[in-house]
Amino acid sequence: MKIRSDWHIHTHNSCDEAAMLIPTLIRQAKEKGIEKFGITDHLHTINEMPDIEASRREYLEYQTENFHFGIEVSVMTTQVLELIAQGGQAPADWREKSDENAALAIALTKEDIDRLGIEYVVGGTHWPIGVPFENQALIRNYHRQNMFLANHPLIDIVAHPWWFHSGYWKENCPQYQPWFEDFSVIPKSLHNEFASAVVENKKLVEINISAMLLNPHYPEKFKKQYLEYLVELKSQGVKLTIGSDCHNADYNIDFNTAERMLDEAGINENDIVDRPTLRRD
Ligand SMILES: [Zn+2]
Ligand SMILES: [Zn+2]
Repeated sequence: MKIRSDWHIHTHNSCDEAAMLIPTLIRQAKEKGIEKFGITDHLHTINEMPDIEASRREYLEYQTENFHFGIEVSVMTTQVLELIAQGGQAPADWREKSDENAALAIALTKEDIDRLGIEYVVGGTHWPIGVPFENQALIRNYHRQNMFLANHPLIDIVAHPWWFHSGYWKENCPQYQPWFEDFSVIPKSLHNEFASAVVENKKLVEINISAMLLNPHYPEKFKKQYLEYLVELKSQGVKLTIGSDCHNADYNIDFNTAERMLDEAGINENDIVDRPTLRRD
């Protein structure tokens, strides 16, 4: 198969270590045969809104055919977002201190989408909220967040389901292994529930290249199981998209290796949706 689209790319405007300039992206995407793509910088809270505004200004400067403007939002709690909206600051340990059943939210509104010309929204589960580093609690919590995204009216693409930030967990709890030794610890019933919601709500699910398929911290066995999971989602009618999640200064994604992995798993070009939203179906 050949990967021809990429709907998850960070620019230097993103609040994290992302470093790419838009002219670099446009030039190198062409060289790599990526025909359609979009940028998606991070919005965790309204504190990152100036980054998104900068990203939008730069996008408009270089806008070309088949180049789109998106955003990546994180699952947060209503409580933390309200605190920040009122001019406060979220305590550094808000994730640990939150209630496991806290109301979930994203910082993006319909007004922001209209004002900034955001064409599509990628949403990701980025951290545990209100649970200890314990398998059952984490699985329950990640599933709850993924379901929140699958049911949220503003989300188009659920990013990297079951991605787990290896640095975050190694720092907080080095002896802990999430589902990387054996992905089958996550019950199939959760995957079925997720797939149903995604199909029903016309969401796309991302095949994430940098953070999942080519993540150097994840064992090969996990990657194989993860590909089987994607195939299972596909068999349940879930539509898949590609997201490189590039954070580098160059668009140096090893698409060839990702293509080979997808080929071996039985995911082909016809299984990949080459637009970032199903909303207008
Ligand atoms: Zn993400
Ligand atoms: Zn990302």
